[in-house]
Amino acid sequence: MGTIYSNKWVDTAVITFSIVKAVISFIRDTAIQKFLFAIHRHRYVPVASPKNVVVIGASFAGYHAAKLLANSLPTGYEVILIEKSSHFHFTWVFPRFSVVGGHEHKAFVPYGPYFEGAPNGSWRMIQDTVLEIGPSNISLKSGAMMDYEFLVLATGSHAGPPSRFDAEEKSDGIKALQTLQRDIQNANDLVVVGGGAAGVELAADAKTHYTQKNVTLVHSRKTLLNKFGVKLHGAALEALEKMGVRVILGERIEKHNENDGFVVLGSGTAIPCDFLVQCTGQRAASDIIAKLFPHIISPSGGYVKVKSTLQIADDRFNNIYAAGDVIDYPCPKNGRSATFQAEVVSNNILRAIQGRPPVNYQPNMVIEGGIELTLGLDENIFYITDGARDINLRTKSKDIALKSKQCWRRFGTVPFLDRSRNEH
Ligand SMILES: Cc1cc2nc3c(=O)[nH]c(=O)nc-3n(C[C@H](O)[C@H](O)[C@H](O)COP(=O)(O)OP(=O)(O)OC[C@H]3O[C@@H](n4cnc5c(N)ncnc54)[C@H](O)[C@@H]3O)c2cc1C
Repeated sequence: MGTIYSNKWVDTAVITFSIVKAVISFIRDTAIQKFLFAIHRHRYVPVASPKNVVVIGASFAGYHAAKLLANSLPTGYEVILIEKSSHFHFTWVFPRFSVVGGHEHKAFVPYGPYFEGAPNGSWRMIQDTVLEIGPSNISLKSGAMMDYEFLVLATGSHAGPPSRFDAEEKSDGIKALQTLQRDIQNANDLVVVGGGAAGVELAADAKTHYTQKNVTLVHSRKTLLNKFGVKLHGAALEALEKMGVRVILGERIEKHNENDGFVVLGSGTAIPCDFLVQCTGQRAASDIIAKLFPHIISPSGGYVKVKSTLQIADDRFNNIYAAGDVIDYPCPKNGRSATFQAEVVSNNILRAIQGRPPVNYQPNMVIEGGIELTLGLDENIFYITDGARDINLRTKSKDIALKSKQCWRRFGTVPFLDRSRNEH
């Protein structure tokens, strides 16, 4: 017992120290960056036909990379950000807003203000879909072609609702969330498939919002949240069972027909079900590069192999970079990682222009490796790890809209004022 406690306190102290160190570096780096951006604003001069640095995808990786590039590329270069959706999709709140109504609009953040302060002529954003990447140009759904000097692939991943909503317009995203809310509200026997973060959060939200509903979570592995340490599994399982969610581990759904009123597991057990939510099946959005570079696409999940410099793993194309969920690299896949990778990519593009060698991306586990997991409408767990040790911190949460406000502010806009559509 004594050893367990002493380990717990040692782990907490070591992790706290690493977090403090990381926060100090972050504050220092941000201050230096702001200073450099201010100098850059005075030096950059727009020219008639600049060389293009094309960034595909405007989420945690691409939007951040484009902002950094707009604030650092020398005269003669322009960053062009291409994004198929009208608004930034704040994925973190999708499971919550799939259950709780009235906040859907907060999940779609207007694009643009994040570039505020960048020099005129240093950036452009285009709403369009990239269909294919060629050796020196890209083709767009609108029919346009565009040359690139450097390219950043930040197209992330695909999944079905409630993890992702394939809605190019905000109004369609809101409608899709409201449809899911209605289906969940109308269900008596809700089955959630997949014990990753989205599945656990959705099952817990549904059970705490509708306490009379039967909610079952089915997961094919023996541990929930298997990308994280077993400590998080234990805490999540305990919380789910305490609130009355039936958790079935190590099983897959064999037969699914909601009209029959049940689903059948591999073991033959039938579970009552009048609505099923699938929280599995994430795949990299790499189809647009797969034709030109089939050899760098991982067979499982379609992720894009990159070097530690985040250049794609093909030495003939050192001017193509990838960052975020789309990459095949030993690192966590989350918004924080995508943001750090964007820093490395933008830095390396600038260094390439200046004729300097690239830097390597090294995941900082204490910042990138954890998760803030909701367990119902008013409980959270912060799971923090430095790669060698981990801790769970339980907290109470009063913010039903989770971090939406912070997300809007982070991307330079007043919550929840959407000037792009005159909406609040
Ligand atoms: C339900 C859920 C909850 C999450 N919670 C957290 C959390 O709490 N904390 C955390 O840090 N992370 C969280 N994550 C993970 C985080 O959302 C992802 O890691 C992050 O969004 C990855 O960012 P990205 O920039 O790589 O790509 P994505 O966010 O996947 O975005 C890719 C962008 O590219 C665009 N795009 C794709 N293809 C094209 C094309 N051909 N042409 C033009 N545009 C294109 C898409 O429209 C999209 O905007 C969560 C994820 C989910 C699904």
